[in-house]
Amino acid sequence: MTQLGSQDLPLRVAVVGAGPAGFYAAELLLKEDISAQVDLFEALPSPYGLVRYGVAPDHPKMRTVIARFDRTGDDPNFNYFGNIRLGTDIDLATLREYYDAVIITTGAQEPKALGIPGEDLAGCYTARPFIRWYNAYPDHSESEFDLSCATAVVIGNGNVALDIARVLSQAPDELAKTDMATRAIDKLRTSKVRTVYVIGRRGLVQASFTHPEITELDKIEHCDIALDPSYLQLDAADRAELEFEDNVQQRRFLPNFEKFSQCTNQAPRRVEFRFLRSPVAIEGDGRVERIVLRKNILSGDAGARKAIATEDLETINCGLVFSCVGYRGEPLPGIPYDDARGTLPNDKGRVLQDGKQVTGLYVSGWIKRGPSGVIGTNKVDSKETIESLVADLATLSPAPRRDSAALRAALQARGARPITYQDWLKINKVEAERGRAAGKPLERFTSVAEMLAVL
Ligand code: NAP
Repeated sequence: MTQLGSQDLPLRVAVVGAGPAGFYAAELLLKEDISAQVDLFEALPSPYGLVRYGVAPDHPKMRTVIARFDRTGDDPNFNYFGNIRLGTDIDLATLREYYDAVIITTGAQEPKALGIPGEDLAGCYTARPFIRWYNAYPDHSESEFDLSCATAVVIGNGNVALDIARVLSQAPDELAKTDMATRAIDKLRTSKVRTVYVIGRRGLVQASFTHPEITELDKIEHCDIALDPSYLQLDAADRAELEFEDNVQQRRFLPNFEKFSQCTNQAPRRVEFRFLRSPVAIEGDGRVERIVLRKNILSGDAGARKAIATEDLETINCGLVFSCVGYRGEPLPGIPYDDARGTLPNDKGRVLQDGKQVTGLYVSGWIKRGPSGVIGTNKVDSKETIESLVADLATLSPAPRRDSAALRAALQARGARPITYQDWLKINKVEAERGRAAGKPLERFTSVAEMLAVL
């Protein structure tokens, strides 16, 4: 019998989700010593996922990986189906008709809720709509953020919280040089926010920040970064935890915080870190006026430190609250889902149903492991998944329909508008031209309709 992956029967794989995990999966599969065709499906016309719509605009270096993704886009054994959403424009059954294997790389899009009263008040947001707004995520740019208050509170001690704190505290003229959406820059120019509190429920040693992001924060001009020196008094368990091999970031950023503790409060803007506080209520008459925090103490051994609530409360008057406490993957129709973890149940990237492998279904990225790591972490993750897929080759059944052009035509006949990688590059070229005129790298389109109009 002809082997899948041979010259006569190239392996056909659909990757769903054109973020970093999807591109790395495609690239690594195409580099394998087999004959393979990879088609990448993406809900938006624009690829790159988190690299385009998650990374903060003032971090252009993190976007240089796009050149690598574009090289995959240029591979003759690669097709792009942009503007095709799984569950709306195509279903899993159809993908299985055309592909021998399907890899899900749809990320973790659903913000976790704080689960406290007042979370629905005007002025309280999760990180996602704000990030999408400033990154010109299509059709999410209409959200309006009222930045007329003096104080904002950012909940969470991860890099997303730092991105939000930085964007709120940076001079708009600096942001105007980036590819941030112009309407966001214009709005930030009118912002009255001068103080941003970054709140962590545990201590400095347990924070998930990374050293480069803390250093970036430190570089913002005309902005004090402040810390009460008492947070630097570590107990024995904290000191032991700090020495853990995994805690290299914490060891690196500790000196930054020592510097922050000596802040002299002279700049017109201020970011202040407060640790050991959990939000318990957001209050106000129709919109956010204050947040109530409960003070915590830490308990437990090094590596397992838990926040224990005390009776002490603290109130911060503020007009904005951003909750940056992590994300969950969203369930997809017909695909097993672990509701407790917000991921697809899997063993080394092989999707499991009731503990058994679902033949030909794989997963990589945040929807596989949860929202953790940096962009490059997805390469390691996709490598594991591709190794599983290649090891399984003999168990896969060849899909009955083996023609990507026929699938594209079938989607078009059903009223969908799949775009190719060449189409995307045309759209991106116009964004770059608009950017040149505005003195920035890109002026992104803020709606799918505008993108498609280029074609
Ligand atoms: P994260 O790193 O997991 O941080 C989430 C934070 O929320 C933690 O401090 C967590 O505290 C806290 N938290 C969770 N539930 C909470 C609750 N109910 N109340 C109060 N605090 C709560 O997540 P993230 O910031 O969303 O980032 C996701 C991933 O993207 C991370 O790997 C991050 O490094 C990456 N990222 C990287 C960059 C960059 O490299 N520039 C930028 C943005 C994001 P506990 O520790 O106590 O649970």
